[in-house]
Amino acid sequence: MSASPLPIARPPFAFIGERLWLDFVNTDATRGKVRTDALLSFDSYLRWLEAAGALDSERAMTMRRRALEQPAGATAALVEARRTRAILRQLAERGFRAERARSDAVAELNRILGRSAGTRRLEIRRDGSIARTFVPVGDAFTGLLIPIVESAADTLVLDELPRVRRCAGSDCSRVFHDATRNGARRWCDMSGCGNRAKAARHRARTAGARREPVSSSDPD
Ligand SMILES: [Zn+2]
Repeated sequence: MSASPLPIARPPFAFIGERLWLDFVNTDATRGKVRTDALLSFDSYLRWLEAAGALDSERAMTMRRRALEQPAGATAALVEARRTRAILRQLAERGFRAERARSDAVAELNRILGRSAGTRRLEIRRDGSIARTFVPVGDAFTGLLIPIVESAADTLVLDELPRVRRCAGSDCSRVFHDATRNGARRWCDMSGCGNRAKAARHRARTAGARREPVSSSDPD
């Protein structure tokens, strides 16, 4: 028996995007010197989908079995998910201004929608809430992307792209939907990036105060 493999570092799944497709884009994110990628393996992809509520545990089990039977299919699905993610990142970061990013995304969404046949169902969850689900009958691997694709499609159809932003943290690549009433959300989270920015502003202010007279009109 060989030595046990190194444990795979589980990226912390962060759900701060307010939309499923933006959380999906954030599965590949850099914050400071830390880069996380939840799509390093097919199993990690399934775990993320489960954590996101986009895949119930029963179907996840079926998919794990299928991945063992069809490893090439699982690998192809992972490659496809990463490709879709890259296109959705372009949409999130530039879609509002760049027509090209929008049309590329629409083509990608249509490609995936066109390859997945299935049925829609309403399912009563354990907590009593009701969710709309998609049960693929064709290519079950591609079907995994459907909830993500639907979420991105909703943003386009509802004209919500102007609300999609990238975190203002200089070393953070997370994206999110700004759901605040005044459209003033700037950070992926207040405890991380928001706090660092506040501390940096404070440092700059106190350093400035040592050099020059304190301004009487502090914007904060
Ligand atoms: Zn951030």
